[in-house]
Amino acid sequence: MKFTDLRTWLTHLQTTDRIAVIKKGCDLKHRLPAIAKILDGEKATYFQDPQGFDMPVISGFMSKRSWIAEAMGITEEELLPAFRKAAENPIPWHDIGNSSAPCQEVVIQNPDLHKLLPIPTHSEHDYGPYITAGLVIARNPSTGKQNVSINRIQLHPTGRLGILMLPRHLFAFFKHAEKNNQSLDVAIVIGVDPLTLLASQAIAPLDHDELEIAGALHGKALDVVKCKNSEIRVPANAEIVIEGKILAHERELEGPFGEFPKYYSARESREVIQVDVLTHRQEPIYHTIIPAEMEHLLLGAIPRESTLLSHLQRSFQGVLDVHLSIGGVARYHLYVKLKKTHEGQPKNVIMAAFGAHYDVKQVIVVDEDVDVHQPQQVEWAVATRFQAHRDLLVIEGAQGSILDPSTTVEWMKEGGDLVPPYQQGLSSKMGLDATRPMNYQEHVFTRVRIPGEDTIDVQREIEPNTKVSFN
Ligand code: MN
Repeated sequence: MKFTDLRTWLTHLQTTDRIAVIKKGCDLKHRLPAIAKILDGEKATYFQDPQGFDMPVISGFMSKRSWIAEAMGITEEELLPAFRKAAENPIPWHDIGNSSAPCQEVVIQNPDLHKLLPIPTHSEHDYGPYITAGLVIARNPSTGKQNVSINRIQLHPTGRLGILMLPRHLFAFFKHAEKNNQSLDVAIVIGVDPLTLLASQAIAPLDHDELEIAGALHGKALDVVKCKNSEIRVPANAEIVIEGKILAHERELEGPFGEFPKYYSARESREVIQVDVLTHRQEPIYHTIIPAEMEHLLLGAIPRESTLLSHLQRSFQGVLDVHLSIGGVARYHLYVKLKKTHEGQPKNVIMAAFGAHYDVKQVIVVDEDVDVHQPQQVEWAVATRFQAHRDLLVIEGAQGSILDPSTTVEWMKEGGDLVPPYQQGLSSKMGLDATRPMNYQEHVFTRVRIPGEDTIDVQREIEPNTKVSFN
């Protein structure tokens, strides 16, 4: 089955009893995100017309690894290779031209987003309402190629939007434009099909349009349409598109906002978007991602895992699988399954993983009999195959994630002033070789198993409708 827009996927989830429909009038401030968080990973949550809005909100429709595999039409084991194949073989999009696109059925000039969109306020100390599932699409001012990223976007009281841009492709486009005193056109797309949402998180090189990776995941070119006010092409079947521009030489305070590591990032002066046009489908559905919960973590994890696996396999044929654990906020703790061919190899794999992405803070290497997607099995390997004096690798003073609060090297004085020099993102790395020796005496490192435990179909062994008396 191909899910070419959000609605076909939601219909599929509902048919299989995976959508919780919430009563009308839910408060957008904290209550809606709290309900979605409680149900996250269990059911997608559909809020019928929340508090004062005639527009429903959906959350958590990609909150399980198995659901993501299902949307791609593959098994969970095939996820990483399939994503990698799509990322390496993009399919150019198909511009539907002047024909009417669903995402432009309604066009509103100079919209008041406070009145028009049900934007929730998520975490306790968030400054206000945040758009958390907006695909920000912009064009490279020098090549015209597009980029897609999800950025956190704050709705300012004035109706302008604040945006956090990490030093990646969108930021580079904006810096280029601003240097020439130009603002940068952007489109913020909300409510896309599951595969386009996933593709937006690909770790692709500059000038690789993530919408072409979406096409590859779908197995056919993605239908796009030109924005009303710019040359940007957006997915034609999206629910909502906000068109505007990131203003040159304008900054406004943005934050605090509860981020993926489950901590707040600070209120700082950041770039500002002026909103020009809002387009949407008839009766659109608004999507919100609950920060630091499963939908957020998995959408980041799968493309990252796919890139890390590909990177490690380039040097080590024996690397069979990787997993970014959920407890490690799907960024910091990497588990690697290795069929080692040399006793020293796990340490080389650890060093390569640290080099592959600066977010990776802890690497645990296990043998091929351990499932890296089961944290309990990984812990078992550490408990029984690892000795710290011999198998632990620690590297000090490396680059880490600035959102990891333990990387702050100067602490706050009494009164709250930061002590200079203040730096975040200076991190230690820890690698654990939890593999057993390649040669060992008899049963010393043989994992206990009961013959038949993985082959017997136990349902066929159970006598149906039978009660015994224990008296
Ligand atoms: Mn990119």
